[in-house]
Amino acid sequence: RIVYVNGHYLPEAEATVSVFDRGFLMADGVYEVTSVLDGKLLDFPGHALRLERSLAELDMASPVTPDELLAIFRELVAQNGVTDGMIYLQITRGNPGDRDFAFPDPASTPSTIVAFTQSKPGLADSPVAKSGIKVISIDDIRWGRRDIKTVQLLYPSMGKMMAKKAGADDAWMVQDGFVTEGTSNNAYIVKGGRIITRHLGHEILHGITRAAVLRFAAEAQMVVEERAFTLAEASQADEAFITSASAFVMPVVAIDGATVGSGTPGPVATRLREIYLEESRKTAL
Ligand code: PMP
Repeated sequence: RIVYVNGHYLPEAEATVSVFDRGFLMADGVYEVTSVLDGKLLDFPGHALRLERSLAELDMASPVTPDELLAIFRELVAQNGVTDGMIYLQITRGNPGDRDFAFPDPASTPSTIVAFTQSKPGLADSPVAKSGIKVISIDDIRWGRRDIKTVQLLYPSMGKMMAKKAGADDAWMVQDGFVTEGTSNNAYIVKGGRIITRHLGHEILHGITRAAVLRFAAEAQMVVEERAFTLAEASQADEAFITSASAFVMPVVAIDGATVGSGTPGPVATRLREIYLEESRKTAL
């Protein structure tokens, strides 16, 4: 694989960052995951905008403009011959040459930027979308600024492991009795034709796929309620699903071992998946 690091396209074995990089020592960095379908980038402007916001919230200067980022992504897709898959991008506060809690002066410590592709042939026709996934619920003990897409992903990783151990695929996190989101996705339920998903705030990541799906749902005259919901409400729902850049719209068929609705992917999730894939392919760059 050819990867991108600080302006260079290199074979992955030759691409390195410092042991003093603040991304490595302090999880002082942000990231984005963008899907590639038919060699094109889905929802690129949304991901580029959120990246700028994450950087700004952490007082980090952006080392690339959205146009430069698009050029880097396209070059990686071309050099690696990616048809379907993902691009991972990470920007950290760089290498100050030592370990120190205080932020280094950005003038002397440029940020570190890396990007790489992950090839996933047939990403859009995942058989999992036809069977749906099972989730468990876990406490949401993450920090209070989940709207910033930082590389601080230890608890979400632990959540995935707890799910695996319980024979499930993912975990929905719960805070003060209300579902926040999945370990790496936004969470939704459907009741009486209404689509319910948590409102935006510091408690969840503002999913780019979420924004697109809610827009498409509104355009298709579906009713959307942006509000918090409980696990009890979810257990009584007709359907449940998640969204993310890599899973698109994915039905959830069980929560904590109890089936949701019919226990099979529901019509709303199935339709939204089709609409999302069709519409986002049209605007892919
Ligand atoms: N919430 C969390 C915690 C996530 O990690 C992700 C995906 N990175 C999402 C939601 C979904 O966001 P997006 O649709 O932009 O991939």
